[in-house]
Amino acid sequence: MRKAILGLDLGGTNIKSVLFDPAINKIITQGQKPTQAGFGISRVVDNIVSLIKDNLDAAKISRHKITALGIGSAGLVEKGMVRNSPNLPGWQGSVPLLKLIRNKMPGVDLPILIENDVNCLVAAEYAIGAAKGYSEVVGLAIGTGVGGGIIVGGKLVTGAHGGAGELGHMTVKMDGPLCKCGNHGCLEAMIGTDAIIQRFRQHSHSDATVTVAQISKLAKSKDPAAIKTLSETGKLLGVALASIANIFNPQVIVLGGGVIQAGRLLIDPAKQEMLKRVMPYNAKGLKIRTARLGPVAGAVGAAILTYSYSAK
Ligand SMILES: [Zn+2]
Repeated sequence: MRKAILGLDLGGTNIKSVLFDPAINKIITQGQKPTQAGFGISRVVDNIVSLIKDNLDAAKISRHKITALGIGSAGLVEKGMVRNSPNLPGWQGSVPLLKLIRNKMPGVDLPILIENDVNCLVAAEYAIGAAKGYSEVVGLAIGTGVGGGIIVGGKLVTGAHGGAGELGHMTVKMDGPLCKCGNHGCLEAMIGTDAIIQRFRQHSHSDATVTVAQISKLAKSKDPAAIKTLSETGKLLGVALASIANIFNPQVIVLGGGVIQAGRLLIDPAKQEMLKRVMPYNAKGLKIRTARLGPVAGAVGAAILTYSYSAK
């Protein structure tokens, strides 16, 4: 029997799972279940536990023994407690996720690690993705929310209470728009999907329903309002990248999340703006790369972090 780690990524829409063989860095199987966050915390925990049980059964068939479980979740995560997870309804306070899962799995005595989802994504890109081979890495995931993860000296930086790496909540515009976290002018409030859509509506003088993917497509077909939208968003991203480069002096910044699919029309203005602002020596050799592991990165990273912390 080979040892395997089960990695889960708790998203607002789906819970993704990978059964991961850490000895050869390989995904054995992957799966998912709807999160059903609107039905409350108890239903979400039921769905997590059901996905864990499915994987325990599947592992037996593929002759693997699951030795530990890692879960990536949005929010600030400390010792199995999830705080401030605004994209899961009803999770605004503190949710003792680890305890709730354990209560519903009597007799299953696996080590369980819960970590912030973007920290998991960055850990995966660091271990086997776009930042493989580097020790100083910062990741930024841009979607509805904007999350970050920081690796210094090959180790994830978690902070005093699990809250480090919230790069989406650095202020880039004092007195800017209100962010979900309660602050004004956070990076998330300036370059998250809602902000991009709002920017496009202004430039196109329309209030049509549109997605960031559609704006990107319009920009690629040379629509001036869409190009301007991505360029301005890119510049704001560049402001943040310059701060990140000056604070952490990383070798690689990995950009992930749905918004990054916009490609060069977003990333080129970001790089140009960063280079205008960063201390030149901190930009020396700095690589800005897009994430490589796709939608399973969070679940893979949860498995990898769990393995590196507890299960060797
Ligand atoms: Zn914020």
